[in-house]
Amino acid sequence: MTQELHIVGGGMAGSEAAWQAANMGVNVVIHEMRPKVETFAHRTGNLAEMVCSNSFRSDDDEQNAVGLLHWEMRAANGLIMAMADKHRLPAGGALAVDRDPFSESVTDTLRALPNVRVEYGEITELPSDGHWIIATGPLTSSALGAAIQAETGAERLAFFDAIAPIVYAESIDMDVAWMQSRYDKGETEEEQKAYLNCPMNRDQYEAFIDALLAADKTEFHEGETAGYFDGCLPIEVMAERGRETLRHGPMKPVGLTNAHKPDEKAYAVVQLRRDNALGTLYNIVGFQTKMKYGAQTEVFKMIPGLENASFARLGGIHRNTFLNSPTLLDDQMRLRSRPNIRFAGQVTGVEGYVESAAMGLLAGRLAAAEILGKPLPTAPLNSAMGALVHHITGGAEAKTFQPMNVNFGLFQPVDGLKGGRRGRKDRYKAYTDRAKADWQGWLDAQS
Ligand SMILES: Cc1cc2nc3c(=O)[nH]c(=O)nc-3n(C[C@H](O)[C@H](O)[C@H](O)COP(=O)(O)OP(=O)(O)OC[C@H]3O[C@@H](n4cnc5c(N)ncnc54)[C@H](O)[C@@H]3O)c2cc1C
Repeated sequence: MTQELHIVGGGMAGSEAAWQAANMGVNVVIHEMRPKVETFAHRTGNLAEMVCSNSFRSDDDEQNAVGLLHWEMRAANGLIMAMADKHRLPAGGALAVDRDPFSESVTDTLRALPNVRVEYGEITELPSDGHWIIATGPLTSSALGAAIQAETGAERLAFFDAIAPIVYAESIDMDVAWMQSRYDKGETEEEQKAYLNCPMNRDQYEAFIDALLAADKTEFHEGETAGYFDGCLPIEVMAERGRETLRHGPMKPVGLTNAHKPDEKAYAVVQLRRDNALGTLYNIVGFQTKMKYGAQTEVFKMIPGLENASFARLGGIHRNTFLNSPTLLDDQMRLRSRPNIRFAGQVTGVEGYVESAAMGLLAGRLAAAEILGKPLPTAPLNSAMGALVHHITGGAEAKTFQPMNVNFGLFQPVDGLKGGRRGRKDRYKAYTDRAKADWQGWLDAQS
């Protein structure tokens, strides 16, 4: 066989993609810029370096979506999971990893394969022919970032995320909240009721501002703010600029009438907007934040209607290079305008070591199958892998697209099961049982 697969970036995604493609018999070249070109976060020249925490999060494959993704990657003979398991550290139900031996093992395993070559150097252009996977992660080098922007349009590759917290729709108290767009704007009833509104009286607003100001915050890492501009301020920074700032910004109450108490004018309103086509997830509009996770849940549960909220994702602002994948990628993770190039990992708009490795696993298999002349369907929709790839390549709202963790809000409902908190355990078990069967079926069809 003569056709090679080139993978740019030997991080979580690129390493897993290389392993999968090489095991399918394809020759692979990994182009990794480190240690020649450094980033502010990586410390070594190893492949699959964990840049910050050493956790792969929950390992529970029956009640947790990230644990399910672990299961699916193990079932697919994933290298990242195998090495994480080999270098596991005690951490209760979570999968914590001894980071240096982990990345050294990934590097050694890949370098020992006869059909994998690692070339150390930066790729600065988008290649016009051959089969490529770009897996350059949140810290894609600036030259390659510029080349991607030249292809996609500048507004479709972001360099910072601005993540507003996302709440499971079922956990919002609709006896308090109501659906309405400001001034009932929109042509259709669906548009006129596109937002979910949570009202605050004056006391609630003042207490909320106090809590925002007092909450523990995280700082940007050293070197992380290069190129950051003030366009997307954290809500707590807006609150620091004046106690009324939020009431004239994302929490303004104008143009809204409380459906439960039409005669009562809210002092401030928090708006949530649908975040996926399924309607299972809502993001809190304009609430990007650098508050610590524990503080976020405490503060956001002060919002009337969100007292019992379950969060699919908490907010954040990070240096993070990512594509507007819903408009740019097809379900095979190919760039629509240049189908010889796939993207994988965090640059596609997933977030986290596990999700990035998962997208590498999928892209590696899809690319290798195409090279071998036996193209594969993308991952089944009801698997964790499929739910995630479907979200980033189509299910998410393109206009407000921000990076996403895997979570059960991305899954199609299972018919006949109880909603709400009480039914959660059975529901999650049903999701994970269905996912495992479908994922195993997809794998078996390839063997
Ligand atoms: C500061 C920081 C802290 C983070 N903390 C966490 C955390 O605690 N937990 C978590 O789950 N996730 C964390 N993340 C996100 C984490 O980086 C990703 O989840 C994961 O590493 C992404 O995998 P990836 O393969 O997409 O990218 P990476 O693992 O970053 O791999 C991309 C690789 O591409 C290389 N590269 C970039 N540009 C080029 C180029 N032009 N040519 C050749 N090679 C190139 C890079 O050197 C790198 O090795 C953090 C990210 C940052 C920036």
